[in-house]
This record gives sequence, structure tokens and C-alpha cells, in this order.
Amino acid sequence: MKKILFLLSLISYFIIAQQTPLEKSNFAKLTSHEELKQFIQEVDAKSDLINTEVLTKSAEGRELFAVYFSKGKFGADKNKIRVLIFAQQHGNEQSGKEAALLLINELLKPENQYLFDRIDFCLIPQMNPDGSEKNKRRNGNDVDLNRNHLILTEPETIALHKLFDKYLFEVTMDVHEYWPFGEEWKKLGFRRNFDVTVGAVTNINISEKIKKLSYEKYLPFVFDFITKQGYSAFHYLPGGPVGVDYLRYSTFDINDGRQSFGIQNTLSFIQEGMNGENYSTDNLERRAKSQMAGMLALIKFSYNNKKEIKKLVAEERKKLISNKVNNKVAIQLDHFSDGTELKLKLLSYYSGEDTIVTVKDFRSAVKSVYDVERPKGYLIPKQLPELKDWMDKHNLNYSDANLSKVKKVEGYFIDSVGTLDFERDTVKNPFVSVIDVTDKIELSDYYFLPVSQLKNNMIVIALEPKSMLGLVTYKQFEHLLEAGDKYKVLRVMK
Ligand SMILES: [Zn+2]
Repeated sequence: MKKILFLLSLISYFIIAQQTPLEKSNFAKLTSHEELKQFIQEVDAKSDLINTEVLTKSAEGRELFAVYFSKGKFGADKNKIRVLIFAQQHGNEQSGKEAALLLINELLKPENQYLFDRIDFCLIPQMNPDGSEKNKRRNGNDVDLNRNHLILTEPETIALHKLFDKYLFEVTMDVHEYWPFGEEWKKLGFRRNFDVTVGAVTNINISEKIKKLSYEKYLPFVFDFITKQGYSAFHYLPGGPVGVDYLRYSTFDINDGRQSFGIQNTLSFIQEGMNGENYSTDNLERRAKSQMAGMLALIKFSYNNKKEIKKLVAEERKKLISNKVNNKVAIQLDHFSDGTELKLKLLSYYSGEDTIVTVKDFRSAVKSVYDVERPKGYLIPKQLPELKDWMDKHNLNYSDANLSKVKKVEGYFIDSVGTLDFERDTVKNPFVSVIDVTDKIELSDYYFLPVSQLKNNMIVIALEPKSMLGLVTYKQFEHLLEAGDKYKVLRVMK
């Protein structure tokens, strides 16, 4: 009987399955937005497992598709683990999209159906259709989507976070490509050569337990999984070239696809395949298939460790919501060495072979440089509609301020504005004095934004004037920072 059922599902698979546009071109041509749309609509029509939705339209009016895989109503069964993968925020990083389409076919195979006994999976194959059509990094408004997850000004990122807020995915992954062919590396004689690199969260405000599970359990699993499929994989390590500048486990900023969900205590990753050297179609079969292997690894890991992940994420999120978290929030951070040297496999331009290079300046640890005491919440002036708009886009809980919620209030006076090094960039660093303003404010002029919610850490990091990752570091909000003036957002201490 089991054999017959398997045979039947195999037959139905061959009816549903069709080659992706990339496969049809024999891995020579990139999938256009129109072809992607057609492919997704066809598999949706043929498969009961899949449902698709248009999340929004891009700046230039192209659809942003979400593909939902579920054996029931997506998100309804609370025992299932909810997993989200989104690809191609950067339009010139094409292999993520191509891999996502290959993944759809892979997941429809009969031998993979068991995965959806435990998983509700959502896939966004193409976050940036406008950039993709032109093979450009930025979206149709010329904005880098992967620096937009805190301020949320773009339709693509707004839609992604709305989707996240709706289903509260427990596992997420953002898929990119890296480009190792730069002149600086060539001068050194070596370049990075891994098919796939994977990174976990680094911001130190994120749950230590979630980091532990990511670094100690998922990363070894995914490296092994990808290697067994015949590709190479290693840690995601930006910076360098070796000997010129330090290497690190990526930024701690919370404005990207991985960290913006990580800061909500989600098990969150970034995966990067290798870009083509001269053309975006170079080596495309290997690039797409190796990225697909990494995506499949995340899904299988989520299946294998469903109970542990769900329990951990629920507990760590509850701490944010009930405000049972560290009283300090780190708002200025830096990368430090913990003394370990990194043995990094690089491709030698001379011999054409992989060579182990010892990286002395490997800053694997992120530490706080400046903390603030976590307040009970913030008072948001009603006369600043840009802040209300921001709270609404992030689906934050807030209300009119009143005496039952607000008893003691402090504010900042901005004495002067200096600067601070941030991963070789310069950001503003105000010098502030704390002032007690409890008796000097009209509460009806303010909204009260409590920190006791899932975006607890994000709220503090966003609103503190000395935060190197805060709203004031963006052009849209820099007017909030005037030397010789009061900072208009206030801290509720009791
Ligand atoms: Zn990218």
C-alpha cells in the first residue's frame, strides 16, 4: 500500500514539476520577472501544497511574490515551525532567486513531503524585481533595501516586515551573493572561494542562547550539508583583504534582513553565494545549485530541531515582551579579537589552488562600547508625524500618554555632536546631559511607546540619540539631533 501511495505521489510530482526558466535555458540565461511570475503561477495552479500571494508592488510596479508551502492553512497550526527565506534584495545578486525557484521543485518531490508535517514554509524568491531586471543592487527608488529594515521607507521592506509581523516566523534567512574578485584582493594574491557562506546574528543585544544554537549547531550542520552535496561552505566573513583590514562576522547593525529579525529573538541567518566574475551568468548552474543546497539545509535543520527551536524562540521572545531582559542596552558596539587566529582557505591567484592563510586580525567578538539603561518606554511627540508613521510601519503598540502609564520622565540635552568610527565609516556621536522633565511636560502632546513588546531592543536602539544604529543616523531623522537643543523624544523611567 505504501509503495502504491509513493508511486502515485511520484506520478503527480511529474505532472506538477516543470523545469524552472533557468533550467529551460540550460543555465545560460537569468530568469526575468515575467518568467518568474509565470513559473510561480503555474506551480501554484498545479500543486495543493503551494499557495502564492502578491505581497506588494515594487517602486516600479512589479509584483513581489510570496510562495507559501503548507499541508493545511498556513500559520494556523501552532505546533508547526514557521520558516521564512527571502532572496535577492540586491538585484545584481541573481543566484538567490534562481536557487529559490529550483528549491520550489525540490520541495515538491515526494521524498521531501514529510518536511511539511512539521513546517509551514514561506519563500520570497525575489525581493527586488526592479533591481533584478537591470542587474543593479538597489531598488527602483535607488535605495539599498538591505539598509532599510529599520527605517522602512520602501514598499519591498515594508511588505516583508508586515509579513513577518503577521506570522512571527521562528526561523528566517536572507539570501545574497558576495563578490571576491576585487582589485585589493588580487594585489594580495588570494581571494575568497567558497560556493556558499553563512552568517548568524552578531548584535550583542540578541539572546545569547539563540546565538549559541546558531553558531554551535546550525553553522556546523549547514557547512556539512553543503559539503556533502559537492560544494564548499564556510562562515560569512566580510572585511579584508587579509593583512590590509580586519575580518569579522559581519556588521552588528540591525537595519539588514538578518539582524532586523534577529533582534526580535528569531533564529536568523544570512547566506551568500559567489557572484559571477565578469557576468552575472558566469558559472550560474553551480551558483544556483549550491545556494539551493544551503536553503534546503535550513529547512531540514528546522524540521530536525523543531521542538528545540520553537521552545527557545518562544522563551526568548517572552522575555522581550514581558521586559525580563538585561537592564542595559548596548547602543555603541565594536568588533574585537578574542585572541583566536583564523585559518582561512583562500584561492591563490599564483598556483590556482586553495591555500590556508592565517588571519591575524580576525575580530570575531562584538562588544559594547556604550550602554544605556533600558527605560520603561518613550514619549513620542505627536508633532513629529514621521515618528508615528515609523511606529505604524513597525506595527508597534503605543497609546496616548497618561498619568497611569507615565510617572517619571527624563530627557536629553544635546551639548555637542562629535563623531565615531563605525566599521570604517563615520557616524555622529552626540554628547548629552540627562535632565529631569517630569513636571515640565504636557502628556497630551505625546504618545507612550512601551518597550515591553517583541521589538523591545529595536525600540531602544532606534530611539536613543547616542545610538550609532539609531534613527538619527538616517537622513530622514537627522533633524532630531541639533547641538544646543533638547532631544524631543523622552524617556519614561517609571
Ligand atoms: Zn547582497
